[in-house]
Amino acid sequence: MADRRRPRVLVAGMQYELNSFVAGTAGLERFRQFRMAEGDAVFAVAKGEEVDGALRVARTRGVELVPVFLAFGGAGPVLEDGVYDHFRDRILAGVRAHRGAIDAIYLPLHGAMATVSEPDTEGDLITRIRAIVGPDLPIAASFDMHCNFTAGMERGLDAALGFKTCPHVDYVETGMRSLEILADTLAGTIRPRLVHRKLRMMTPAEGHDTNTGPMRDVIAQLRDLETRPGIVAATVIAPQPWMDVPETGWSILVVVDGDANVELGRREADRIARLCWDMRERFLVRRTPLAEALDIAAANPEGAKPVVMTDAADAPSAGSYGDSAVVLEALLARPRMRGPFLMTMTDPAAARACEAAGIGATLRLRFGGAFQPAFFKPVDVEATVRDLIRAPYESQLPPGTIDPGLRAVVEIAGFVRMVIAERQMATLDLRPYESSGLDPRRAQAVLVKSAGQFRGFYTAIAARILELDTPGPVNGILTQLPFRHLTRPLWPFDADLAAPW
Ligand SMILES: [Zn+2]
Repeated sequence: MADRRRPRVLVAGMQYELNSFVAGTAGLERFRQFRMAEGDAVFAVAKGEEVDGALRVARTRGVELVPVFLAFGGAGPVLEDGVYDHFRDRILAGVRAHRGAIDAIYLPLHGAMATVSEPDTEGDLITRIRAIVGPDLPIAASFDMHCNFTAGMERGLDAALGFKTCPHVDYVETGMRSLEILADTLAGTIRPRLVHRKLRMMTPAEGHDTNTGPMRDVIAQLRDLETRPGIVAATVIAPQPWMDVPETGWSILVVVDGDANVELGRREADRIARLCWDMRERFLVRRTPLAEALDIAAANPEGAKPVVMTDAADAPSAGSYGDSAVVLEALLARPRMRGPFLMTMTDPAAARACEAAGIGATLRLRFGGAFQPAFFKPVDVEATVRDLIRAPYESQLPPGTIDPGLRAVVEIAGFVRMVIAERQMATLDLRPYESSGLDPRRAQAVLVKSAGQFRGFYTAIAARILELDTPGPVNGILTQLPFRHLTRPLWPFDADLAAPW
């Protein structure tokens, strides 16, 4: 370290979650809509995120953070190549500019970004950063639990860790822990070494909830392991399973202190990987047929909590557009229920038609499959416009301001209340409905387009939760999706795998 009083840690990140089955490509505009910042502006856009946590620890540990770049684009289709070029050029320029004046690097990544011609952008970025700063500068990175951790990432990093919660609520803690590891390293109290065990296994997102089910047991093992001498951090990575790229699969990451503990780290990573492998069947999803679910909703008595249904196959939080009308079509084909039945739809043309008609007007609308006609077909309805909203809203999950563009709140068949938005809204918390003037707590049934993350907000208000058997690019029954690029063998596509690695 140079003879300065305060060590300096460069911070740069890019965060995106690829869904290979979502139609089209996404460009830089998508990141401008979410968050993108350079220099000191990084701190302003990262409230409640990993960088926020890093900043807290930096202050208490006397470390100076040097913010270079941060971009967040949610989840969606494959990115145009120019997007990564833009991020890479800014980040590498920052690293070159500060080289010699920084003591470590922290990369808050998501770990599931890919462009049309680069399936492992983070691995490429880390490799290029390492080439600039040389082998000795400590580099730590944090990842989403749903990342796909690759050999390219592993080679360039001294430490890697990820979220321990799903629904994810430990963004700040993950950033804090990352900076603590770097501060300890710079203070000379630890020498982090990264151990990575890749598993030939992929599982649906529904099984990743850390409050219930098998993942809770895995997290308990990791937390226990982190109390052991020589172990700095332990992470399970369960990739979001709609990434059709090579090397996809679960990972166990163990950061150990010093070369002497690498063997211990390998043993423990293998032990936990084996545990995950042995319980793999428990991660598979069980679906409720749509007709059966709607019967249950119709029987839900007045005054009861709502029946919450998940149309996970069209989840915007996992990259879909939210343009499926499959549930509405089934709903309108059966006797009407009391309602209200709340649902969302992404369809810019329909939202604008409602705006043109005005509040109180009744009009014919056709929507469904606006973005993904290969998965969803349109339905024709008569709708009455109850409200028109052109304002962003404060989201709890993901944290931050969301701007879905124009929103039209319409009534269909007397009992459906639908929010038709120009851009997709993730229904992970209650805010998409509440900010549209609808109260999920007082509904007979509520549709959420999410695989599992909604549970943090909806479990408490739901009479029961039903996971619907519906089609779409976020289908949890992975063997029904048209994968082409996976590194095989891989469970559950190759069911008779003899060994997990
Ligand atoms: Zn995630």
